[in-house]
Amino acid sequence: MSFFKHHGMEAQRKGNNVWAKNKFYDPAKPTILLNSHHDTVKPNPAYTRNPFSANVEDGKLYGLGSNDAGGPLVSLLTTFFYFYEKNELKYNLVIAATAEEEISGPNGIELIWKDLPKIDFAIVGEPTRSDIAIAEKGLLVLDCVSKGKAGHAAREEGVNAIYAVVR
Ligand SMILES: [Zn+2]
Repeated sequence: MSFFKHHGMEAQRKGNNVWAKNKFYDPAKPTILLNSHHDTVKPNPAYTRNPFSANVEDGKLYGLGSNDAGGPLVSLLTTFFYFYEKNELKYNLVIAATAEEEISGPNGIELIWKDLPKIDFAIVGEPTRSDIAIAEKGLLVLDCVSKGKAGHAAREEGVNAIYAVVR
């Protein structure tokens, strides 16, 4: 928030999510969402540096989350800042720095989705070795309940709740 304010931009915050619209946002134009996350996974035991400090070595920034997704998020923020004050854009830009991506949590982008304007498409920043990916690798999180019926497998009894949920 303060970073946006410092640069003379209005931003909004809900939980640990921060988002902003370009200065000349026009609801009649299509909107591109620039999104990446600022949460990280916990440091794994193989981490050889202090994960909680940011150090530059040989021009490279090391620290937990500097790759996923610090680098992509900073790139998208820079893109947003560059276009923020342009008033002849064919598109609106919305930047969203979101939380809980690593845990597919309810307080990440899901929390602010209804607060965002209508999004026509999104550019999501993730470390891809500078390759362009057109889709996610594949993750579907379902919060649901499936009921089966207990029975011994050898006697072909019961109803397998896993098969039921697949349908
Ligand atoms: Zn990521």
